[in-house]
Amino acid sequence: SKNVYLFHEGRADMKALLGGKGANLAEMTNIGLPVPPGMTITTEVCKEYYRLGRKFPANLMQEVKEKLLYIEEKAGKKFGDPENPLLVSVRSGAMFSMPGMMDTILNLGLNEQTVSGLAKATDNPRFAYDAYRRFIQMFSDVVLEIPKHEFEYILARQKEEQGVSYDQQLSAESLRQIINDYKDLVQEKEDRPFPEDPMEQLTMAIEAVFRSWNNDRAIIYRNLHKISHDLGTAVNVQSMVFGNMGNDCGTGVAFTRNPSTGENILYGEYLTNAQGEDVVAGIRTPQPIAKLQGEMPAVFEQFKKTAYLLERHYRNMQDLEFTIERSKLYMLQTRNGKRTAQAAVKVAYDMVQEGLISKEEALMMVEPGQLDQLLHRQIDAKVELNVLAKGLPASPGAASGSVVFDADEAERLGKAGQKVLLVRTETTPDDIHGIIAAQGILTSRGGMTSHAAVVARGMGKPCVCGCEAMKIDYDRKIFAVGNTIVNEGDLISIDGATGRVILGSVTLKDPELSKEYLTILEWGDQVKRLGIRANADTPEDARKAREFGAEGIGLTRTEHMFMGQDRLPYVQKMILAETLEDRQEALSHLLPMQEGDFYGILKEMQGYPVCIRLLDPPLHEFLPSLEELLVETTELKITRNDPARLEEKEMLLKKVRSLHEFNPMLGHRGCRLGITFPEVYEMQIRAIFNASARLVKEGCKVLPEVEIPLTIDISEMKFFKERIDIIAKEVMAEYGVSFHYVSGTMIELPRAALLADELAEVAEFFSFGTNDLTQTTLGFSRDDAEGKFLTHYLEAKILKENPFITLDRKGVGKLMKQAVEGGRKTRPGLLIGICGEHGGEPSSVEFCHMISLDFVSCSPYRVPIARLAAAQAAI
Ligand code: PEP
Ligand code: MG
Repeated sequence: SKNVYLFHEGRADMKALLGGKGANLAEMTNIGLPVPPGMTITTEVCKEYYRLGRKFPANLMQEVKEKLLYIEEKAGKKFGDPENPLLVSVRSGAMFSMPGMMDTILNLGLNEQTVSGLAKATDNPRFAYDAYRRFIQMFSDVVLEIPKHEFEYILARQKEEQGVSYDQQLSAESLRQIINDYKDLVQEKEDRPFPEDPMEQLTMAIEAVFRSWNNDRAIIYRNLHKISHDLGTAVNVQSMVFGNMGNDCGTGVAFTRNPSTGENILYGEYLTNAQGEDVVAGIRTPQPIAKLQGEMPAVFEQFKKTAYLLERHYRNMQDLEFTIERSKLYMLQTRNGKRTAQAAVKVAYDMVQEGLISKEEALMMVEPGQLDQLLHRQIDAKVELNVLAKGLPASPGAASGSVVFDADEAERLGKAGQKVLLVRTETTPDDIHGIIAAQGILTSRGGMTSHAAVVARGMGKPCVCGCEAMKIDYDRKIFAVGNTIVNEGDLISIDGATGRVILGSVTLKDPELSKEYLTILEWGDQVKRLGIRANADTPEDARKAREFGAEGIGLTRTEHMFMGQDRLPYVQKMILAETLEDRQEALSHLLPMQEGDFYGILKEMQGYPVCIRLLDPPLHEFLPSLEELLVETTELKITRNDPARLEEKEMLLKKVRSLHEFNPMLGHRGCRLGITFPEVYEMQIRAIFNASARLVKEGCKVLPEVEIPLTIDISEMKFFKERIDIIAKEVMAEYGVSFHYVSGTMIELPRAALLADELAEVAEFFSFGTNDLTQTTLGFSRDDAEGKFLTHYLEAKILKENPFITLDRKGVGKLMKQAVEGGRKTRPGLLIGICGEHGGEPSSVEFCHMISLDFVSCSPYRVPIARLAAAQAAI
């Protein structure tokens, strides 16, 4: 098989074989653009090199030599020719661009003879020696692996001897001296002279590029961007052109549109009389590309036309590299340009208006996850930050405020109009009032599905969680990161999009939802098949969800309503009740409150389905902690001045002890609560139907869905369905109205998924609770895994992705698929959705589309992401 392709033998769609750079150089060559001739050694050769134990396939260099003949002919120069030498660049180029991660060698082919030839041919000895000096330096660094600074030292010493500050000020003689010194250094380090034979240089350089595929930074980069380590890199060997032969030369980079705003104007910079590395080195300040128009008008016109042509050709914004040699333009690279969310949306929209791409192509051009950036207040990118630590980017947006360590204090200060950040080791449902009052949440423990993270995302509130570097001392009201101590009241900021924790306040910008953004989402709605719902616990959340385009509520977690300060005392009475009468008494106070909650949400969502889940968490979450009570009772015992209170606290302590579970997530929670205390669920069911009946009376259309959490068996469903139907009948009779309702179940335990066919005999809908289903399928605690061992699993590549963020298709997904099939076998057309955190994650949404779910449900702020992801899944 073929190891080496000349540029004109390749195509843009051969990226896997030729790498991104090689494929695009081929494409540009074939559409007739001025690309210096060259060849690409395939990624297959790189893989073969590693398979053979770091050896070239036998015929590789023979093929390279043959292709060189063609390049020599095109360039009108000969490799190693002392009169008119061909010089080449040797560059890596993998399938996915890994900017700066691998190595490049320029000016290869120079030696004592060819450097004189180059000096004569260009009539510019200074240029020739400078090229040779650069070549020795790069080759020694990349191929021979002699530390760079040893060469920089020689260069600096020569500048000092000559009394000059810049490289460009060195004379040809000085450069000659540097070359001699460089060569002495190589002789000394390698115990052999610097290679003179151009073919040997080329062989060594190609091998070095293959080696660089596995250098440390390349490996780290691939891990970070989830790029496979097996792809290998291609090697591009290309005839050199020089941007540093005089003032009619130059080099630069440009985007076809502004990558930050998306504005449709050429955006970039260039340097006259320079080689690529000078632009990067930052010694001379490059000029904005528009200036080229004045300096070299003809070249500018040609470049502008080329940029336009490439954009049309690739139907995407391009990122270009070019060199000008003696007033002639050469294109060295083109690729789809990276861009901000704002630019992505504008470019996609504009290109449709320009008739360049279809709406479907525009939809595919925007990364759903990026939309997040547009919905939250953001840190002004221009400002310098004092970053203290980094946690998990749990809920995007940025917030500043003074540090507060408990929820009551946060609420007190928040109500007084202060901006606070709630800092906790982790949050629990009883911190909810503090979370509401705070600008943002910062926790030292817990992962992306921890309470703080879920709640914050639900509210669209910035949150950084699992910031393990932060050591909180509640007693002293401080936290420490290394040697830095932050006191209560100190001003800090968090960036929920990156996980950064920042000292002091930051400047924030408000989001603006542009017409481009809104239009693109509407296009998406026209093609998507999945319904998009939101997880919402309050009328405000529901309103937000509608604003963002949700078509219903997929999950209302009723426990959050139990946490309000006006309710908690009754909830606790309900829990502490020893008799049914006492419990009924407490519940009678909660009923109207719950009814009010549901009324508000159902009213906000008129005409759309609202799925309300009955109580789910273990009851101890509504009581004070054991530690807290032990401290209080001990104090009361010592002071002895409040026996009544002591008795009350001791009672509470006893109850908390009796409710204590070693494994509460697998304990007395979910519908098990409804089995042991049916009256609690009955109260909630009645509240849902009372609210519905009232709204129907007022002329509103309601579509309530009553949902049972954590079921494992059809008998549970039967138990509840019977009660739901009785209460519905009672309420309808009482109010003299009728309305449609359905009852269904969460699928969040493997047994439920396995027995879905049976559950569907009673359940009229399913909703996958993939937070719990992931937790129970993998046996990974959703609250602990991320901080403890999951990172190691990811680093060791035992798991490819965090299963709490990206749905584990292989395991959890298999159960889901089976449940969908089982459920619909029993009940064709069964309504099935997902309401775990995965419902707003693009790859998981794609999977939900693939297994034919009816809807995904996610926090209101993720609704636009889910809409776009659902559209992309359908294209
Ligand atoms: C789930 O388990 O995925 C779910 C939605 O329920 P919760 O997160 O409230 O346990
Ligand atoms: Mg759950």
